[in-house]
Amino acid sequence: MISFVIPCYNEENNIRPMYDWIVDTCKDIKDKYEIIFVNDGSTDRTMDNLRLLVSETREDVKVIDFSRNFGKESAIYAGLSKAKGDYVGLIDGDLQQDPKYVLDAVEFLKQNAYFDCVTYFQAQRKEGKFISFLKRHFYKVINKMTDIDFVEDASDFRVLKRNMVDAVLKMDEYFRFSKGIFAFVGFHSMNKPYEVKDRNSGTSKWGFRKLVKYAFDGIIAFTTVPLKLSTYIGAISSVISIIAIIIVLIEKLAFGIDVPGYATIIILLLLLGGLQLFCLGIMGEYLGRNYIETKKRPIFISREELDSKEK
Ligand code: UDP
Ligand code: MG
Repeated sequence: MISFVIPCYNEENNIRPMYDWIVDTCKDIKDKYEIIFVNDGSTDRTMDNLRLLVSETREDVKVIDFSRNFGKESAIYAGLSKAKGDYVGLIDGDLQQDPKYVLDAVEFLKQNAYFDCVTYFQAQRKEGKFISFLKRHFYKVINKMTDIDFVEDASDFRVLKRNMVDAVLKMDEYFRFSKGIFAFVGFHSMNKPYEVKDRNSGTSKWGFRKLVKYAFDGIIAFTTVPLKLSTYIGAISSVISIIAIIIVLIEKLAFGIDVPGYATIIILLLLLGGLQLFCLGIMGEYLGRNYIETKKRPIFISREELDSKEK
């Protein structure tokens, strides 16, 4: 069985077309399939349209309705935990990704037992030069910082085999950086290009600010290198301070000291104060996340679940 998992946030006009597209793509396959929509706290008519769809369809359609917007990462987790398939395809609800790629991937995984996952990347990125420049460098940096291998350009458009789905579900942390989670669980992934289409309707939810926050979350979730960095900064400034102390003492003992030195004092004061706050800030980021994580809050809360087979 194949499960399609579709996170939806304000996709009211895309629900029906997405469903039709999948059903049409799957009309000739022998495998059974299910379609799982996760409504991530949409504020438009997404849920109404899903309800209508479930009441009308004769296919196997399931809906998880979140109690609020928890983010795409949580929606993916919810969908994976619901999915019954031996193969699970994660696909966006905005018709940018053709479901036929999911079937291609399933075919590939069936024929190549070595692989557990197919990860699609955009053959040609349809985004600004600046953003793609930043993304490229983000992967370089995070790969240097961690032992795990982040694939540059890899999207969340993936097809996973059951063994990998179960592994991902075991990673039940609250701060979910899915690229990191997929990289962390390991397994054998095949990277394939796909042709990304334009969004059918609605707008992308990824502004520049959200991307920066996402990158930052990813670094903090998967590496403690920034903490080490603050240790190094501390160590280096301590060494410099000791040298400075010796120089000042010698000056004092050998020559006595006139009043000058005001500039030096102010500069050192500001520099050290700044560095201390900076390092404290880094520590605070980790501590803060640790605090939230120890609360063991649920990754998502569902308001309602629908199942076309139980009506
Ligand atoms: N999405 C979601 N929750 C969010 C933001 C996005 O479930 O908080 C869904 C969205 O409905 C879409 C997918 O994640 O199906 C990808 O979002 P989007 O198209 O905005 O991202 P892009 O394609 O621009 O990377
Ligand atoms: Mg999109």
